[in-house]
Amino acid sequence: MKVAIYNNNEPRTLQAREHLIQLLKEHHIQVDDTRPDLIISIGGDGTLIGTFHHYESFVNQVPFVGIHTGHLGFYTDWHVDQLDDFVSLIANKQPELFNCPLLKVVIHYLDGRTQSYHALNEATVRKSNGHTQVSDVCINQQFLEEFRGDGLCFSTPTGSTAYNKSIGGAIVGPEIKAFQMAEIASLNNVVYRTLTSPIVVPAFRTVSVQLHNPHHTLVTIDQDVITEPIKEIDFTMDNQTLKLACYHEENFWQRVQTAFIGTKPQ
Ligand code: NAP
Repeated sequence: MKVAIYNNNEPRTLQAREHLIQLLKEHHIQVDDTRPDLIISIGGDGTLIGTFHHYESFVNQVPFVGIHTGHLGFYTDWHVDQLDDFVSLIANKQPELFNCPLLKVVIHYLDGRTQSYHALNEATVRKSNGHTQVSDVCINQQFLEEFRGDGLCFSTPTGSTAYNKSIGGAIVGPEIKAFQMAEIASLNNVVYRTLTSPIVVPAFRTVSVQLHNPHHTLVTIDQDVITEPIKEIDFTMDNQTLKLACYHEENFWQRVQTAFIGTKPQ
C-alpha cells in the first residue's frame, strides 16, 4: 500500500506527521506522492481543502482521509492521539467511501478564454473595490434577478457549514444532490430588489452570473482568488465527487451539533 501525505506547517502537525511516518514504516506502508492508494491530510478542514486542490487530479480514483490537529472538523475525523489505531485500520480494513459533492465553476473570461474549476466548500463572486457588485443571475438561461450587493456565494452541501453558514445560508445534508446560492449583503429598497433568501438548486441545473462590472469583481474558489476580468460564470454540480475514506461510522448531524452547539446547559 502507498499513501501521499499533505499537511500544514503547525508544530503540532509536523510532530504528528513524523509519528505517522514512523508508524507507516512499521506497517510496511510506503509514502508515495505519485501513485498513492490513499491521500492523508494532517491539519484542519482548511488543510483538507488544500489537500484536495493539490491532489485534484486523483479525485476520481483515490480516497482522502483527514487527521485533525485542532478541534474536530467536518472533513477530518481522526485525532492525532489516535494515530496507532488509524494506521492499523488503513493497513487492514477496506473503508466505506463517503462522497462529497463538488461544485463545478466554469469561468468565461473577458479575453475569450473559458476555464473550469472545482470547489469542495464554495465559490464566491464578490466586489473587488468599494463599489456595489452588479450581476444578472439566470437559472438554466432563464432570468432570475439583477443582483446588487457585496456578492454571491455558491456552496456544496459539505461546504454549507463553512462560509455559507456565516452569511445566513442553510445547512444542507450531504446526501442532498443540490448546491446553494446565498446573497452577501444584497441591496434591497424600493428601487432594487433581490430574492434575499438563499436558494437550493438541484444538481442538474446551472446558475449563470453575468457581470455588469468585470473589472471590479473577483471570484474565490475555496481558498484561491481569481482577479482577472470575467464576463460570465456558470455554476453546477460536477459528476465527480471527493471520496472520504471512513473507517468508523460517521454522523453529519452529530458533527453539526458538536461544532456549533456543544453541551446542553444544565
Ligand atoms: P480559515 O480562516 O483558516 O478557516 C476558516 C474556518 O472555517 C476554520 O475554522 C475552518 O476549519 C473552517 N471550515 C473550513 N471548511 C469548513 C466546513 N466545510 N465546515 C465547517 N467549517 C469549515 O480559512 P482556510 O483554512 O483558508 O479555509 C477556507 C475555508 O474557510 C473557505 O472555504 C470558507 O468556507 C471558510 N471561511 C469561512 C469564513 C467565515 O465563516 N466567515 C471566513 C473565511 C473562510 P479548520 O480550523 O478545521 O481549518
